[in-house]
Amino acid sequence: MKIRSLAAALWLSTALVSPLAIPAATAQSVTRSMPAGQPVNDATPTPRDVAYPGGTIRLDVDATDTNQRIFRVKETIPVAAAGPMTLLLPKWLPGNHAPRGQIEKITGLNFAADGQPVAWKRDPLNVYGFIIDVPQGAREVLAQFQFISATTPAQGRVVVTPKMLNIQWESVSLYPAGYYTRQIPIQANVTYPAGWQAATALRGKRTGDTVVYDVIDYEALQDSPVFAGLHFKPVDLGRNVTLNIVADDADELDFKPEQIARHKKLVEEAGALFGAYHFDHYDFLLAITDELGGIGLEHHRSSENQVEPGYFKKWDSGDAQLDRNLLPHEFVHSWDGKFRRPDLLWTPDFNVPMQDNLLWVYEGQTQFWGYVLGARSGMFTKQETLDAYAHIAAKLDTTVGRQWRPMEDTTHDPIISARRPKGWVSWQRSEDYYNEGLMIWLEADAILRRQTRGAKGLDDFAKAFFGINPGDWGQVLYNRDDVIKTLNGVAPYDWAGFFRTWVDSPTRETPKGGFTLGGYRLTYADTPASYTKNVEAAQKIVDQSFGVGLMVKSDGEVSGITWDSAAFKAGIATGMKILAVNGDEYSADTLKAALTAAKGGKTPIQLIVKQDKYYRTLSLAYSDGLRYPRLEKTGQGEGSLDKLLAPRT
Ligand SMILES: [Zn+2]
Repeated sequence: MKIRSLAAALWLSTALVSPLAIPAATAQSVTRSMPAGQPVNDATPTPRDVAYPGGTIRLDVDATDTNQRIFRVKETIPVAAAGPMTLLLPKWLPGNHAPRGQIEKITGLNFAADGQPVAWKRDPLNVYGFIIDVPQGAREVLAQFQFISATTPAQGRVVVTPKMLNIQWESVSLYPAGYYTRQIPIQANVTYPAGWQAATALRGKRTGDTVVYDVIDYEALQDSPVFAGLHFKPVDLGRNVTLNIVADDADELDFKPEQIARHKKLVEEAGALFGAYHFDHYDFLLAITDELGGIGLEHHRSSENQVEPGYFKKWDSGDAQLDRNLLPHEFVHSWDGKFRRPDLLWTPDFNVPMQDNLLWVYEGQTQFWGYVLGARSGMFTKQETLDAYAHIAAKLDTTVGRQWRPMEDTTHDPIISARRPKGWVSWQRSEDYYNEGLMIWLEADAILRRQTRGAKGLDDFAKAFFGINPGDWGQVLYNRDDVIKTLNGVAPYDWAGFFRTWVDSPTRETPKGGFTLGGYRLTYADTPASYTKNVEAAQKIVDQSFGVGLMVKSDGEVSGITWDSAAFKAGIATGMKILAVNGDEYSADTLKAALTAAKGGKTPIQLIVKQDKYYRTLSLAYSDGLRYPRLEKTGQGEGSLDKLLAPRT
């Protein structure tokens, strides 16, 4: 500001006299101050693999406020020495693969030692850190704060309703910096709303409405969240696996024996596949609700799962069919993700950044086995599985962003995008390592079966890779070479080249060798197969991303556009509202009828669209009609894909 006005003044005075004076003024105007540097802030120590010398932390959580949804926390942290100490809230959350700790919801924080207040200061280099100075002679520090959980979805995921709640320990506890979290013992106590029951992988003793949980290390505590509720039912699935159900209404807890039989078979099929269980006990936490925020989050000895009301009551509905993929996926993570973990995704505490490069194994192969185990256990039918594969492959083919962005780069998307909505997802790409990972593993399975004349498949990889050390619920790390070595142990092949092609390089289309080698091919028809039909119903959309390149909500709002498609070329953007199609008011049926009528013709479809305050008429040149993906059998008899989906027990 100062330099600019000075230059202007000089220009005025010199311009009247002589242009030769101008260079002097310009020279002054480019002055740049150069600070010498910045003092280094090293307040927060890096974690070391030594026992926390203070001893066992005691954590008291009051979870009774279901109206204002405030968790009240008292944490007693024993200390071994006086001096500076940093207490951290978890920032990098396992399973989220990203820095998602809700630090903004920590309020009312205060510290005390021997009844005297202790001042705190936030670490400006890591705002999840609170620095205190432990006074001489103090043996423990008391931290008190609230976690003000979301009261509307706009603030974040809703974790408390009048009927149920979800405790995630990363929101209600701090840990001392400088130690591997597995070296910090902690004993948690929770007071629940009167009469509610709670389920978690933790074990403890209940007195009244307070549960005193057994001492555990801080890492395992984080990995053992709680679902509690008024309407609660535990169901034994065998093998020390329990299905703990909470629901908005009591009648959602009623199920038929054959429905539970499929969940039991899921547990058996997983054991048959991996050849070992890596837990002493496992708790599915299942919330049947449309009030609690959505979740599907894996843990080593449990998982957090939300499904829509009707999970048992409307077993044959599209919503329930889609939801039945959740439990198989999260269960597989006990082996793939929790027990076997990519080396750089493992971190010693929850403030060291995670590196997501191998998520195409962690999530991709879990996505693969989730569908396979779902089919083998009867959670969904083989035909529903094939329909899902067709939808997944076709959707990935519309993701033309693959031409510039290799699949592996999408593993960083949880950090880059944090699941915010995207305007041009088919060009930006999203967390494609899930489904494209599934397609890569389908092809790998088909190659293994071909190379071994049907003797072996990815089942053999799973046993060799995930089935080691039965009962071990620690972590065994791996890198890409370990994956390649294990695959070569099943059947020698150029696996390194296979991954270079599909994982590391931009590609023209999604890998479909799992279909073609497996006896199927992807085709298109003008009516939807079961999976696409369920997606359209559940999301209340018309999904023609495979054809004209449009996804439209029931009110006409465009929710997605395939880059370079006919809809793209017509000038349509996400967020526009289609008001009329060929002069008729928008409805799903009008759009579908217009697309059908345009098939093979030359007359463009006329659209009236609204964007903000502006109305436009757009001309949509398209003549391929409705296009819905499905798998078609190509060979006679049982192909390798049929063999993959067949039950093992
Ligand atoms: Zn997952």
